[in-house]
Amino acid sequence: MKRRHFITTTGTALLGGLAAPHRAFADIALPALAYAPAALEPHIDAETMTIHHDKHHAAYIAKLSDALKTAKLTDKDAVTLIKDINALPKDVQTAIRNNGGGHVNHTWFWKWMAPANTTPNGPKGKLVEAIQTNFGGFDDFKKLFGDAATKRFGSGWAWLIVKPDGKLAVTSTANQDNPLMKGVVPDAELGAPILGLDVWEHAYYLKYRNKRPDYITAWWNVVNWSQVDKDFTAAKA
Ligand code: MN
Repeated sequence: MKRRHFITTTGTALLGGLAAPHRAFADIALPALAYAPAALEPHIDAETMTIHHDKHHAAYIAKLSDALKTAKLTDKDAVTLIKDINALPKDVQTAIRNNGGGHVNHTWFWKWMAPANTTPNGPKGKLVEAIQTNFGGFDDFKKLFGDAATKRFGSGWAWLIVKPDGKLAVTSTANQDNPLMKGVVPDAELGAPILGLDVWEHAYYLKYRNKRPDYITAWWNVVNWSQVDKDFTAAKA
């Protein structure tokens, strides 16, 4: 009962925490990778990383910029925009949902990865406890997350989120939707993402072809658990 009370209490503070520091966007620009494109090999190949970052992510940014100019929304940051798609002018809602989501999702995705063996192999401290409380253990969490990533039909993402009540959940979204998008992703749980996996074919097809499960298995080797811990702390603040 004590633990339950603690989670409920901290959950109240979370609503403000959805705009955690790393989620602030000073501008709509392509962020540099913190590692070389080849640094995630053999798990993710350099060519995939280069095309994914330099072409796919850049294209989302270009299209987002166009939509923002059209709607005269250039002073807004991407996270603020995607949180309330329904509040945007109708003619740019789809463009900002797809490309604003694409920009936010990829910006975080690059940070949630790091060369293998350069960060801890799993979560630490309070996140370990939270994973145990919410999922039963780390392996149970990985299974749940892997299943969400495998079963996502077509293009989309698997997520580990902190919900407004402070609890963790694994969820999945289609296309470039994000669990922060209230009112437009009825099938997903809403919350602040602290880890996400891109399961669009462009993220793995060159190396893994149709074998998405092999990509997912390999990807665990390059998860940046230091970043996930940081994001968990920020989301709970
Ligand atoms: Mn992608």
